[in-house]
Amino acid sequence: MTCMTGGCQCGRVRYLAEADEPDAYLCHCAMCRRATGGASIAFVSVPLAALRWQGEPAWYRSSEIAHRPFCPACGTPLGFAFVDDATDIDLTLGSLDDPTGFVPSHNYASESILPAWQDTSHLPSTRSDDNANVTKRWMDKVGKLPD
Ligand SMILES: [Zn+2]
Ligand SMILES: [Zn+2]
Repeated sequence: MTCMTGGCQCGRVRYLAEADEPDAYLCHCAMCRRATGGASIAFVSVPLAALRWQGEPAWYRSSEIAHRPFCPACGTPLGFAFVDDATDIDLTLGSLDDPTGFVPSHNYASESILPAWQDTSHLPSTRSDDNANVTKRWMDKVGKLPD
């Protein structure tokens, strides 16, 4: 049993889910790209009955067949579900408190993959705390770096 907690950026919407074998995957479809602003979206699928919201999300119809929960205050995309006969809900990996344990099992909507963005491990990498400009802004305003 995997226990997952997560929520939006501002903290207004939180959730808890427990699932036996949550399936993690990437969706590359254009609707998911627009819904998240990302090159693709990482989802973790859990049974709808396993999810409890703590602070209700808002929902919008992203197509004739699906709707998506999001935070009405900060806009964080929280998931995806079919409108009719939904048995599962996909939670956005990025909204999980601890996404580190999940490994994607497959790509969905592979016809829409943006190949240049799939594997960036060969690119030069910079730690955020090596960026003096941003570090100074955080230290001046907050006194510490973000978690
Ligand atoms: Zn929020
Ligand atoms: Zn999609």
